[in-house]
Amino acid sequence: MIHGSVIVAKEVCKGCELCIQACPQESLGLSNQINHNGYRFAVLIKDNCTGCINCALVCPDAAITVYRQPKPVKQPTKVLESA
Ligand code: SF4
Ligand code: SF4
Repeated sequence: MIHGSVIVAKEVCKGCELCIQACPQESLGLSNQINHNGYRFAVLIKDNCTGCINCALVCPDAAITVYRQPKPVKQPTKVLESA
């Protein structure tokens, strides 16, 4: 499994919401804050991003960088052998 994360360049974002509509995980939303141009900017609102890069592909201003890393695999609990 891949765990993804995104960084939005908030001063570049125009709040067009294209990335929000393109995200199959509904991981993105608009911040309640505004940037220096007066736009609410996109932010990650859930920790379920899969790193699919849809959001980065649709952003007309290339404001999104996607990072992908494998999800840590749970190791089985070790059973101690009795002597
Ligand atoms: S990389 Fe994919 S899952 Fe992650 S926020 Fe962007 S569109 Fe959503
Ligand atoms: S598509 Fe780009 S400009 Fe539009 S809201 Fe998302 S990050 Fe901002």
